[in-house]
Amino acid sequence: PAITNHMPTAELQALDAAHHMHPFTNNDELAAKGARVITRAKGVYLTDSEGVEILDGMAGLWCVNIGYGREELADVASRQMRELPYYNTFFQTTHVPAIALAAKIAEKAPGDLNHVFFASGGSEANDTNIRMVRAYWQAKGKPGKSIIISRKNAYHGTSMGSASLGGMSAMHAQGGMPIPDIHHINQPYWWGEGGDTAPEDFGLARAQELEAAILQYGEDKVAAFIAEPIQGAGGVIVPPATYWPEIQRICDKYEILLIADEVICGFGRTGNWFGSETMGIRPDIMTIAKGLSSGYQPIGGSIVTDEVAAVLDSIEFNHGYTYSGHPVAAAVALENIRIMEEEGIVEHVRDVIAPYLAEKWTALADHPLVGDTSIVGMMGSLALTPDKAARAKFASEAGTIGYICRERCFANNLVMRHVGDRMIISPPLVMTPGEADILIERATRALDETY
Ligand code: PLP
Repeated sequence: PAITNHMPTAELQALDAAHHMHPFTNNDELAAKGARVITRAKGVYLTDSEGVEILDGMAGLWCVNIGYGREELADVASRQMRELPYYNTFFQTTHVPAIALAAKIAEKAPGDLNHVFFASGGSEANDTNIRMVRAYWQAKGKPGKSIIISRKNAYHGTSMGSASLGGMSAMHAQGGMPIPDIHHINQPYWWGEGGDTAPEDFGLARAQELEAAILQYGEDKVAAFIAEPIQGAGGVIVPPATYWPEIQRICDKYEILLIADEVICGFGRTGNWFGSETMGIRPDIMTIAKGLSSGYQPIGGSIVTDEVAAVLDSIEFNHGYTYSGHPVAAAVALENIRIMEEEGIVEHVRDVIAPYLAEKWTALADHPLVGDTSIVGMMGSLALTPDKAARAKFASEAGTIGYICRERCFANNLVMRHVGDRMIISPPLVMTPGEADILIERATRALDETY
């Protein structure tokens, strides 16, 4: 029989366990309890195979910025598939969706970030960046500049290149990473690592680790520094205000390309089109994906400045993906941006929903289990702690309490993720105040049940 939404949940779960390997999952553990089967979604709500509605506090994987169920995107995809489902942009050809999307991105991106190299997602785009910055310095007659500096606990993707840029030790431990010429400095995580140092001093000190690394490896060897404006998968870690200005100063001083990984922060999540605007930085390259198409199609890319593009345009950059600028994905992304503009979704975040959610989220700090609460735009986190004043960590294995809290959220029909003992949210940007109330209500219940 055909496998459809109408099959009993247990049968779907059994087939899933038999044939489907889930990413970042212990598949044996999952098979023992059965994956929750999601069948449809609308607005900020998912529906599972039992007909239960779940509030998606993560917008999928930080990506469904305009919410689920937008028919316009389906219509555009269908039209584009009928007209031109695929063509490449490698061999002296181009097509209207790629042209229109690149031009629109150039219009939205700050400063002179006017040129886009497309990929299918964030990992691919960050792989592009690794190759791009090295090709750039070679073309400028400085082939020695090949080292890229990143940060511990950063997440930049899952391919060998992007996972090497990332600073996730559990990923590196599974072999072969980081690839050569990638080094990591510490993250600006004051609540967890700041000790008695004041946040401003700590932010400055962590930024100055970049300068120390450049001096250690040699200015003539370092090509670029990469970071998320706000670390997402690492636990929504908002740096102290002193951090980014110092990083910008150091990159400028030593002629190091600054790569802002905007895969999560881009397209409205922080209350501006890009997180770099929120953090006040001027990157040379931006990585984009996720919110670019609100996750309706897999598409990402690298946006580069006029200067970087001028250098790369003078050589043949031997790089590209079959699906670079895929016409259906590009058309859908363009429609997503059009809707965001027409409906003022970035303004809705900045002026309406983010301030509303921030007030309620920050008040969770009164809960006995909650230490730090951080929130910028529509990305927030809270640290679970047995002792707020001491900023203490739980003695049990790291992440156990977070795992329990996440399970309690799920049982209360709320998707909230945990990273170690930090709980994180990244809801759709179209969320209403009423829906934010429901999120907070369910999160509070989950915290009470975890306590
Ligand atoms: N960069 C950042 C900051 C991310 O959060 C992610 C994914 O979560 C990626 C890159 C990788 O993107 P993708 O999963 O589309 O390859």
